[in-house]
Amino acid sequence: PSLQTSPLNDALHRIFGFHSFRPNQEEIVRALMGGRDVFAVMPTGGGKSLCYQLPAVLMPGTALVVSPLISLMKDQVDAARLNGIKAAFLNSSLDFTDQSAVLRSLQSGDLDLLYVAPERFALDQFRELLAGCCISIAVIDEAHCISEWGHDFRPDYLSLSSLVELLPDVPVAAFTATATQKVQRDIVSKLGLRDPFVLRASFDRPNLTYEVRFKEAGESQLVSLLNEFSGQSGIIYRTSRKSVNDTAAMLQKRGIRALPYHAGLADRERHDNQEAFIRDEVDVIVATVAFGMGIDKSNVRFVIHADLPKSIESYYQETGRAGRDGENSRCIMLFSHADIPKVRFFIDAMLDEDERRRALDALSKVVAFASSTVCRRRMLLEHFDEELPGDNCGSCDVCQGLHEVTDCTVEAQMVLST
Ligand code: ADP
Ligand code: MG
Repeated sequence: PSLQTSPLNDALHRIFGFHSFRPNQEEIVRALMGGRDVFAVMPTGGGKSLCYQLPAVLMPGTALVVSPLISLMKDQVDAARLNGIKAAFLNSSLDFTDQSAVLRSLQSGDLDLLYVAPERFALDQFRELLAGCCISIAVIDEAHCISEWGHDFRPDYLSLSSLVELLPDVPVAAFTATATQKVQRDIVSKLGLRDPFVLRASFDRPNLTYEVRFKEAGESQLVSLLNEFSGQSGIIYRTSRKSVNDTAAMLQKRGIRALPYHAGLADRERHDNQEAFIRDEVDVIVATVAFGMGIDKSNVRFVIHADLPKSIESYYQETGRAGRDGENSRCIMLFSHADIPKVRFFIDAMLDEDERRRALDALSKVVAFASSTVCRRRMLLEHFDEELPGDNCGSCDVCQGLHEVTDCTVEAQMVLST
């Protein structure tokens, strides 16, 4: 990149130590600082945080950031503080005294950046307090959580729909890594964004190779796969905590350096296992979907789905944790028809009829993806309403003529029928 100097580039370097913007960051920063609402879809690792943290520092007042995960908030705040940003967070993990202290520094204008849990916005007291503060921008991170059509709907997010009325003069920015056009329209309308600057980065991850294989019973398939990846870093996703534990133990017995990760482990163990993986002390983490959000490990060379993912969005997010350094990496889904009724069993137990219908729809799309004879990359991109430019990718199992799972649509339809 050429050596540009502009006030924005100088600030980028001074505050974050970066020499240039990543694609789309500068446009978003400029839109926000110009007072415009923003809707941006950028892939995981694309650098969304910087898009609001830079304006947070440069604009007068406090930038408000709504984020769904308590654990991520603390990490983000710690990282921001290391860059000298005056940042804090407000959620239920703080005791009353700490919450009061944060609110006081918000009121006295001492904060550049405040991370807030979405449920706060349902509290009148908090809303009144906000209305009296100097807020620079309002940011909704993981904005797909507001849409029932997204893959991770959170009712708490619905209270954000009145944010625009509460802070009428404040630019609002919605960020997410995954949104179809339908979800995008839903987010824009639910948040009431006003003629937003819309940015959709490409979903294509050219350095990832997608493969689907028939899942074989027994241990040998996974073990021989891992032997191919010997000494490399990877994630194996499984649905249940029990299968995570069993698989991790089985791999350890075979001499593969693997650790389990799921929400049922003690905090300490979960944290230690995650750290061991990040520091390359083990090669493999066997995990439920609880693993991955907010983890920034660049050298993940493979992601194996040993059970069906729950939606194309989840599949995209989970495989997206591979190859963040840009090096070639493989994403392998192990597919078995026998897994479909297992997932159905859980879906049928769902009490909310809408939720049940959405889960079933998501599952049928995953099955259609796995059993399709269309280029995997093309299908994934089409799911996000993006067309693969040019020919098929040439690298997935379908393009290579290696696909094992062929049309099981009739079977799938039968299992999926209501
Ligand atoms: P996202 O939220 O989109 O998944 P993050 O905001 O967590 O991504 O950023 C991912 C990584 O990229 C972080 O380690 C961040 O420091 C780095 N990053 C962001 N912007 C730049 C940049 N302009 N130059 C270099 N690194 C960057
Ligand atoms: Mg992020």
